[in-house]
Amino acid sequence: MAANPSFLKYVDDHQADFIQRLKEAVEIPSVSGNLEYVKDVENMADFLIKQLTELGVKAEKRAIGSHTITGEEVALPPVVIGSIGNDPSKKNVLVYGHYDVQPALKEDGWDYEPFTLTPDPSGSGRLYGRGSTDDKGPVMGWLNVLEAHKKLGIELPVNLKMVFEGMEESGSVGLDKFIESEKDGFFAGQDCMCISDNYWLDTKTPCLTYGLRGINYYEVRISGPSRDLHSGVFGGTVHEPMTDLFAIMSKLVSPEGEILIPGVKELIAPVTQDEQDKFEKIHFEMADIHAAVGGDVTISEDTVKTLMGRMRNPSLSIHGIEGAFSAPGSKTVIPASVAGKFSIRLVPNLGINNTTECVYKYINEEFKKLGSKNKCEVELTHGGEPWIADPNHYSYRAAHKATVEVYGQEPDYTREGGSIPVTLDFANILGLNILLLPVGRGDDGAHSTNEKIDTSNYINGTKLLGSYLYELAAISKD
Ligand SMILES: [Zn+2]
Repeated sequence: MAANPSFLKYVDDHQADFIQRLKEAVEIPSVSGNLEYVKDVENMADFLIKQLTELGVKAEKRAIGSHTITGEEVALPPVVIGSIGNDPSKKNVLVYGHYDVQPALKEDGWDYEPFTLTPDPSGSGRLYGRGSTDDKGPVMGWLNVLEAHKKLGIELPVNLKMVFEGMEESGSVGLDKFIESEKDGFFAGQDCMCISDNYWLDTKTPCLTYGLRGINYYEVRISGPSRDLHSGVFGGTVHEPMTDLFAIMSKLVSPEGEILIPGVKELIAPVTQDEQDKFEKIHFEMADIHAAVGGDVTISEDTVKTLMGRMRNPSLSIHGIEGAFSAPGSKTVIPASVAGKFSIRLVPNLGINNTTECVYKYINEEFKKLGSKNKCEVELTHGGEPWIADPNHYSYRAAHKATVEVYGQEPDYTREGGSIPVTLDFANILGLNILLLPVGRGDDGAHSTNEKIDTSNYINGTKLLGSYLYELAAISKD
């Protein structure tokens, strides 16, 4: 069922009001995890509560405990929850967004004040400001949908529950416990979930995102002498930790990106025909990635291989060495202890534990082969599981139809190469199908300077979120 035409017309007629709403939201510098902005984050929660309540939503703030910021114990930003509609004949839909933002200072290189929503003076339709796309734009999109229905006096086609978090940019501390505690309360009985907190792959093609890679981060520490040594005195007489570490690190991944740890490749879920088809249909050109990385340094020249490399295959990256001499100049030190840092991006069915087993076994075996008298310790410093949803679930089919209605084109089916940890928390605890439905474009610059959202994405995004609810209401669950 296509969206109510009066809803779509309302959105077109009220663009200026909707931009004003986003402007007010951006003006509250709700930077989480920073003592200076604790009050602003709270103000942003109040802003949401006030708007939601005016729009007919039963909304409340929930305290979720406290945390320590630079030695001071402060309350965690509250979770804002809201619910509207309670019709047993309608589907129950849960949506998530976050109202906190990344830090931003004009002197970081912003062209305009980061906490003032500024339209591009050249008339491109870009709206610059911290949080414009991540994630205040999408959150205001949901409010716009509510406003249109309230003002037009039409009911939403579904029962809608909302959860807006104020700690996403600072690790979503406390959210998992909150979800767990409300599993049989606020979150009970939901049919599906929609998270709007990621981006199109490019700047032209809407997409639906159905997977995220996980990550295991490792530290390999090699230590031997009890103090740093001089190579003129001890070079040639001791097993050097750095030499051992290079030997180990060089055996992790080939220059072509192939992971050399035995057992890892075998764990990867085989590519299905449906997946292959979805990857082949993605709108993507090698020039896009060349532009994004600033040079032609891609491993493959094939778009599907490149996309799979980024989205559905694991990758191993070497990040750095702690304890190594790294300043300019030529110091002749033999470091006593060094730690190599590397991570593996995880995909189905490479989990935290089975991957770590392979890593530990391999590094210990390889170290033994060196015959070194140094000590080698491997540690998993943090792990996050990969996530994948069924892209043929009715919620995805509804979003597909809504995309075609609003944009006149079929969406790409993408996966993110990185992680959005809250997705996993909701998926694991609530057991729901989750749709990642982006509003902004691939060049929005979510965490960087000059973050923006295009007016057309914000307005069409509002239509998309609303149309999705209509399609969801109409679609059969099987
Ligand atoms: Zn975000």
